[in-house]
Parts: sequence; structure tokens; C-alpha cells
Amino acid sequence: MANVLVVAEHQDGKLRKVTLPTITFGEQAAEVVGGEVHVLVLGHGVDAIADEVAKYGNVAKVHYANSAALEKYTAEGFAPVIAQVAEQVDAEIVAAPASAQGTDYLPRVAVALDAGMVTNAIKVWDDGGVRFQRPMLSGSVLETVEVTTPRKIAAVRTTDFDDAKEGDGAPVETVELGESRDDVEFVSMELVKSERPELTDADVVIAGGRGLKSGEAFEMLEEMADLFGGAVGASRAAVDSGYAPTDWQIGQTGKVVAPNLYVAIAISGAIQHLSGMKGSKVIVAINKDAEAPIFQVADYGLVADAFKVVPELNEKLKSM
Ligand code: FAD
Repeated sequence: MANVLVVAEHQDGKLRKVTLPTITFGEQAAEVVGGEVHVLVLGHGVDAIADEVAKYGNVAKVHYANSAALEKYTAEGFAPVIAQVAEQVDAEIVAAPASAQGTDYLPRVAVALDAGMVTNAIKVWDDGGVRFQRPMLSGSVLETVEVTTPRKIAAVRTTDFDDAKEGDGAPVETVELGESRDDVEFVSMELVKSERPELTDADVVIAGGRGLKSGEAFEMLEEMADLFGGAVGASRAAVDSGYAPTDWQIGQTGKVVAPNLYVAIAISGAIQHLSGMKGSKVIVAINKDAEAPIFQVADYGLVADAFKVVPELNEKLKSM
């Protein structure tokens, strides 16, 4: 029987939200190949993550690769374990979030399994062969890809799938691991520490554009994000102008987000920006130009000077 293997993602002892829509993709892929969904958790001493992920979706088994060699992420360390488990569960499709980590190790898994790979998959179906759909050119073109190798690798664009619902609970089984590689050593990782949620996990994103004219002006956006318990994002023009750090960039060449609430402040709404946020549930735009294209995708629009209305909105939020 051909099955589907979904790789779970976690960070700082917490299951990353992107795992849940990837399980939903896995459920749809399992219908296509007529098999079961298996989930793989890699790490060291992350039993609680394995137990937590086992609660979600219609999953046959959670495989837990628990090893000191997997405590710190390296693509070279993770990829052989994923390939091993894919073979053990006879996975026709191996899926992981199209995150920084997923797109780092999946190509190595593809090489190990001699498998074809599709990135940013937003749909999977059978049309005499397993087909995937993926957006191109900022989402203005949808490409259909047929992967013809026996095993197939999919980096899933998680913003296009709902979170997996809580299910009946899957058994967790520890993976028997072979020899780990000793030719790759984890040295260090520099992470930007933030009290705010990760952009791609946040329920609320407050994003600013070049119209803010300085890094200091982003402080009022940070204040708004903190009042919502959300994250701060930026357009590429704001990042390129040095107003915001690179890891805040949203869009075609930045992160793809789909929060419940996206507030775009002084962002014009170029197609390359929209491709990173138009899946948001509710979009609010604040722009002083009533003709700005962002208003075409906004559910609520405020034609106003951001320097006047953002501090006012923050005061209102504080009094709520
Ligand atoms: P602008 O287009 O300059 O818009 C600024 C807006 O602020 C204007 O609408 C203006 O009316 C408004 N404004 C000014 N002052 C105020 C005020 N006081 N109050 C309220 N509103 C005000 N862009 C991305 O964002 N993400 C990407 O990933 C990305 N990738 C790209 C990839 C490629 C290959 C290319 C070619 C471009 C890419 N871009 C990307 C750039 C994109 O085309 C736009 O240039 C960029 O999104 C514009 O950013 P902006 O809206 O902040 O700036």
C-alpha cells in the first residue's frame, strides 16, 4: 500500500502551527494514493511534541525519531532519517511545510529517495498520475506538475490548507535509528529572539511599508502588534530602505502569511507583496492614497495618514 509521510516541525519545545495544515494536505494526498497518513517527529527528548501531534488529523501512526544526534537541526542529519522512515512506511508522498527548514532538507530527502519534488504545493489530485498545483509569478499563474517517480516529495504551502482537526489520537512509535552521520557537526545558530510570535504562526500581523519613512515609525506598529499579541511584518521596500529587518519581509521573496487579521499600513499593495498575504482572513489597509491597489484586496480600508491614525488606534486598543 502507498502511504503519505508528513514531517512535523517544532521549535523551542513547541509544535509549530505549520504542521497542522501540512497534516491536512497529507490527508488529501492519502486519499489520492489510497493509503494512510503517517507523521514523523525528529528531535531529542521531545516526547511531548510527539504526543501533541498524535492528537491531530486522521493519522495512522506518529513515528518518533528520538536521538541526541537530532537535538539540533541540520539538513544533513534530518534528511537520511526522513528517507529511512519514508521507506519503512512505504510513503509514496513525503510532505513537509515549505518553511525555511522544510525547503532546506526536502531536496536532500528527494535525492536520497531518487524522488521528484514539487515546491509550494497548494493542491494534490489524481488525473491518471499524481498531480500537484503550485503558484508561479506571484500567484498570477497556477502551474500543474505531474511527478512521475515512484516516491514524490512535496513542500506544502501551508497557508492554503486548514489546520487538521483533533482526531481519535494516533499511536506513537519510536523509530529504530541506524548510525548517525559523524561528518557534519552543528556549530551554532543565531536566532533573532523575540517575545512576539513567529510571523508565519501569528494570528495577527501588523505590516508596514515604505510610506512610514523610517525605522522609528515602525515602533507604533510594534506597539499595535503587542496590543494584539501579534507579529510585525514589512514590505520589501521598507526592508530595502533599512526600516525593518529582513526576516519581517512578506511577499514573493519574503514570508507567506495567512493570519486571521492582517493590517497593512502605508503599503501600496504591489502584486509581489499581495502574493505573501492575500490569503489572510481579514485584511485592513491604512493608506493616505485612496487609489492604492491594497484597497482592492482589503476587507476594511482607512484612507488616512498613518502617523495620525495608528497612535489613535493604539490608544483605543489600550482602553478596550
Ligand atoms: P510603495 O510602493 O512605495 O508604497 C508606499 C505606500 O505608502 C503608498 O501607497 C503611499 O500612498 C503610502 N503612504 C505614504 N505615506 C503615508 C502615510 N503617511 N500614511 C499612510 N500611507 C502612506 N515587495 C514586497 O513587499 N515583498 C516581496 O516579497 C517582494 N518581492 C519582489 C520580488 C521581485 C522580483 C520584484 C521585482 C519586486 C518585489 N517586491 C516585493 C517589491 C514590490 O514590487 C514593491 O516595490 C513593494 O512591495 C512596495 O513596497 P511599499 O508598498 O512599502 O512601497
